[in-house]
Amino acid sequence: MTIHQLREPCWVITPADDDGWSPHYGLWAEASAAATEIREDDPGSLAVAKKLPGPCWVAECDGTCEDLLGDDGNPLHLHTAAEALDAMRRQGWTVIHGALSGDELAYCGNDKPGIAEPLPPSPAELEAAGQLRLPGVLS
Ligand SMILES: [Zn+2]
Ligand SMILES: [Zn+2]
Repeated sequence: MTIHQLREPCWVITPADDDGWSPHYGLWAEASAAATEIREDDPGSLAVAKKLPGPCWVAECDGTCEDLLGDDGNPLHLHTAAEALDAMRRQGWTVIHGALSGDELAYCGNDKPGIAEPLPPSPAELEAAGQLRLPGVLS
């Protein structure tokens, strides 16, 4: 799945925590429940759920772990694809452009491929792609 934008904007709690920590929620109900909990703990709090203006970007490892790019198990949500790429670089991820599909493939530090270039397609893959060998051209 590599770098992709979520379908729906996330919900956050506003105002954010004193330390700026603001988790993202996929559903209004989750964010609203969290905001209610904060107000119960601190009756002076004005915490409410707020929908972000646009969907976040996330990065998912195309290697064996299939983990999302994140910090200590919290998936990182970025505002733009460029920010996602920056965050990936900082965390030692590798991005490879697939020669066949044109897709970007992302790999975490643990799943980093040993070679930067993808392997050439096999004859079966070429056939599947409609590039059949012409008779007599190659023997
Ligand atoms: Zn988000
Ligand atoms: Zn991985």
